[in-house]
Amino acid sequence: MSRSLFSGRRLCITTKHGKESVIGPVLEQSLGVECIVPESFDTDQLGTFSGEIERKGTPIETVREKCLRAMKETGCDLAVASEGSFGSHPTLFFVPADEEFLLLVDAKNDFEIIARHLTTETNFAGEKVTSWEALKVFADKAKFPDNALIVKNAEKDWKFLQKGIQNEAELRQAFEECKNLHSSVFVETDMRAMLNPMRMNAIAKATEELVRKIESECPNCEMPGFDVVEHQAGLPCSNCSMPTKSTLQDIYRCAHCHFEKIEKFPRGKDQEDPMYCDFCNP
Ligand SMILES: [Zn+2]
Ligand SMILES: [Zn+2]
Repeated sequence: MSRSLFSGRRLCITTKHGKESVIGPVLEQSLGVECIVPESFDTDQLGTFSGEIERKGTPIETVREKCLRAMKETGCDLAVASEGSFGSHPTLFFVPADEEFLLLVDAKNDFEIIARHLTTETNFAGEKVTSWEALKVFADKAKFPDNALIVKNAEKDWKFLQKGIQNEAELRQAFEECKNLHSSVFVETDMRAMLNPMRMNAIAKATEELVRKIESECPNCEMPGFDVVEHQAGLPCSNCSMPTKSTLQDIYRCAHCHFEKIEKFPRGKDQEDPMYCDFCNP
């Protein structure tokens, strides 16, 4: 069903940072679509990572806006857009994380499917540096020059801004120039996909997740995107049988016909170790 919904249609990938190279082939092969990239579409209008254009709205609002604009511009009724978000991991404190969102909007059949991939495999970082030696240490940690860097005069100031630095001579020159002009230097990783192979990898993973969701069909209406909407806690403790915080069952719900399915013991076990029980191990 999924394949026949999409087969032979044009799908517009809204990107200007080379992401189509990882997203396109996977979608073409699994959905039978023909991917196109709009030529004039500048996604930077919706915000840049280096901060000189602020992103308004959540990542999901941003990807939706990208899809809608691209569909309007190209006349496609099928679009995919991606958006990354970087910062501290939501549960592992002080560990940098890359959260990638990929949204597919199908205007013809009136639905959207969102995929998310969260990873700590990222070089996302930035710091003020006072010497070339300190900058070199930062660059090594950031896996430069395979991953590009940005030099600016301060974290939230863009009087000096050099993006996409990919070799040491250029880095040295930017450092000296910025230091001479502003007597302070801030270096950060360039998170644009084509300049950051670690991020490109995360986008590839998000694409796999999107395909997995698309291929999951509702058993009732056969529309794609049938997926878990809620994890319900309460897996019983193997010692005292009281409910624990661990997942007892997953709830699947169809966004189209609202059909629901309950999957008991989705983690493959029907009891929890007393170690995770609030009664046995408070
Ligand atoms: Zn359904
Ligand atoms: Zn217990």
